[in-house]
Amino acid sequence: MKIGIDLGGTTMSVGVVSDKNEIIAKKEIETICSDGADKIIERMSQLVQQVMNQVDKTQISHIGIGCPGMLDRSAGRVLYSNNLGWENIEISEKIRQIFKIPVYIENDANCAALGEYIVGSGKDVNTMIMITLGTGIGGGIIIDNKLYRGKSGNSNILGHMLMVSDGLLCTCGRKGCWEAYASGSALIRMANQKAEECKESELSKYKELDHSLNGKNIFLAIHNGDKAACQVFEQYIAYVAEGITDIVNIFEPQMIVIGGGISQQGEFMLNPIRQLVEKNVYCGLDAMPIITTSCLGNDAGIIGASCLNEY
Ligand SMILES: [Zn+2]
Repeated sequence: MKIGIDLGGTTMSVGVVSDKNEIIAKKEIETICSDGADKIIERMSQLVQQVMNQVDKTQISHIGIGCPGMLDRSAGRVLYSNNLGWENIEISEKIRQIFKIPVYIENDANCAALGEYIVGSGKDVNTMIMITLGTGIGGGIIIDNKLYRGKSGNSNILGHMLMVSDGLLCTCGRKGCWEAYASGSALIRMANQKAEECKESELSKYKELDHSLNGKNIFLAIHNGDKAACQVFEQYIAYVAEGITDIVNIFEPQMIVIGGGISQQGEFMLNPIRQLVEKNVYCGLDAMPIITTSCLGNDAGIIGASCLNEY
């Protein structure tokens, strides 16, 4: 058995994972970033202790932690994490001293990709790229059964490839990144703009009634056939597909797995994405990967983190 931890800016989840990569015990709490790194690491240890108490803890071989941000894996440090508000925070050694077993850390998006590759949507392929459409765009690249990390170990910044030269300002400081056009936040921004332009639209009504637009009311308007909302959806899907086409052209993976809240739309979003990628992919249909959604949800990060000793 092993422990997998998914440390996010909003919640942290800790699970005991069996040798067959099934979660057998799990606990989740709020991260509360404003408490600072020491408190968060302390609460994480308590949570690990609690799940360990539910099993025979002598059988637990190691702990894997998925963290957002840039990491120094060999030093077990988070170099910089915008989401957590951390800079140069040692994490592995602190946890190792408490539990006296090996501790591994990895970027959270890589852990989610690993989880999907090991037991989720990608379990039957050996080259797979996962993209997570959330507040930003996260990504993880598996090539020939290995997690691809690049020279610095932090190469999975798929969301920050350029979509529009001198375009919208991205959270990274550069202008025109894919993330600024195809993340979940970008969809909400586009819908808000449309609601302002089309005062008679259902989008505009929801914006007023619910005081803000979110994934739920935007997709309600889309499914109800609201013209303004459907235009936003069409534009958004085009941006998502443009980025995926570039990824397919570069890597020719066997599979693209889409995660994040929007992936709950399933075939409704996958079909138009597939059509656009098929139309534009450089090497034609022979290069076309399976494009699907993640099937493990939040558990992917826990399972992936628990397997870091092997990848
Ligand atoms: Zn960027």
